[in-house]
Order: sequence, then structure tokens, then C-alpha cells
Amino acid sequence: MKSNSETLIQSNTDTDNISCSTLKKLLNSYIDKELDEITHLFVTRHLEKCENCSKYYNQLKLVVDAAIALRRESIPDDVALRLEDCLNKLKN
Ligand SMILES: [Zn+2]
Repeated sequence: MKSNSETLIQSNTDTDNISCSTLKKLLNSYIDKELDEITHLFVTRHLEKCENCSKYYNQLKLVVDAAIALRRESIPDDVALRLEDCLNKLKN
């Protein structure tokens, strides 16, 4: 589940101020720490400035953290599927 963060950033002329929709595309990778240093910084900065995205991030992070914690304890498939479902809904 790697997002193409470089392309997303480069297609945006104002790299210091990424759009909310771009940010949302990057958030999953951000939480998974898959972004390169610069992109990670853009996201951090945006989250500091943008209340909406910050709320969205906190919501998403809760679900992702729960998923990671549960994954460590090897959860039953149906629970994993429900979590995945939840994640997909948040992404859209
Ligand atoms: Zn935003």
C-alpha cells in the first residue's frame, strides 16, 4: 500500500502548502512512516495549521493504532476485515 507521494507533491506548485485532499492521500503512509523526510515534514506542517485535517488524522490514527496493536496479537480474520473496512471508509 505505497502511495506515490513524490508525484503528488511535485504536481503541486506550492510545496510548502499542500492541499487538504493531497494530505488525506498521504496520511496513511504518514502514519505508517513510509514517507520521505520532506513529504513527512509537509504533512506535519499542514496538520499543525489545519484543524480539519488534524481531526481527520487523529481519527485515522486511532483506527490504525488499534489495527496495529491487534495485528500483534494475531486477531481473527473477521475482526481484521472489519477494521480494514473501517480504514477504507475513513480514507474515502
Ligand atoms: Zn487540511
